[in-house]
Amino acid sequence: MSERPTPGLAAHLAAVRTRIVQAARAAGRDPADIGLIGVSKGVDAGMVRQAVALGLKDAGESYLQEALPKMAELADLPLTWHFIGPLQSNKTRAVAEHFAWVHGVDRLKLAERLSAQRPTGLAPLQVCLQVNVSGEASKGGVEEGQLAPLAQAVARLPRLQLRGLMAIPAPASGLAAQRMPFARLRALLEDLNAAGFALDTLSMGMSADLEAAILEGATWVRVGTALFGARKK
Ligand SMILES: *Cc1c(COP(=O)(O)O)cnc(C)c1O
Repeated sequence: MSERPTPGLAAHLAAVRTRIVQAARAAGRDPADIGLIGVSKGVDAGMVRQAVALGLKDAGESYLQEALPKMAELADLPLTWHFIGPLQSNKTRAVAEHFAWVHGVDRLKLAERLSAQRPTGLAPLQVCLQVNVSGEASKGGVEEGQLAPLAQAVARLPRLQLRGLMAIPAPASGLAAQRMPFARLRALLEDLNAAGFALDTLSMGMSADLEAAILEGATWVRVGTALFGARKK
């Protein structure tokens, strides 16, 4: 592990924080209501440790095989871990045992496994349902028409706490185009809450579009490249 400060990391983190604060102000929102998840896939543990020393409190990982050794190496840190990657049935146990949040739940079977496998000594697993707001077959996420029944079923699972919705829209350029899928996700959350849910979380926005997401109500932004630099993979 390198103990030498990585050039630029502090500046990158400060720049991302400034972007969040400015977007929150533009939206008339309290910046404290927007959490930053540093997406550390492809980033070594030493760099994550430096980011935590600079104040990062949440980290997101997409690949379990990469995440588990990194999390073990950083177990001494006050860091909350978010699983943000595609979830497969054979990975649910490790996710249920090691993470605080899961952002990509899009099938009841996965949620049932996560609930059954969540250790009783831990707080309930915090869950966002991933919604396919761009209509892209490849991106994962529940179809809008299936969202309400899925939310109802997931909300009944004892070891999960359903918190809200997550999306990974297709890349778009320009603020107006970027805002559209985020506005849709927000509307879906409002529909669920009007139907009796009390969801408080919108996980949306990445390096390229966090301003658009914050303008539409994001409560978590998931930022990799803008913090840690371009990934090799
Ligand atoms: C990689 C990833 C991110 C971060 O993307 P950047 O463009 O590097 O900020 C956010 N969310 C998910 C689900 C990811 O897989």
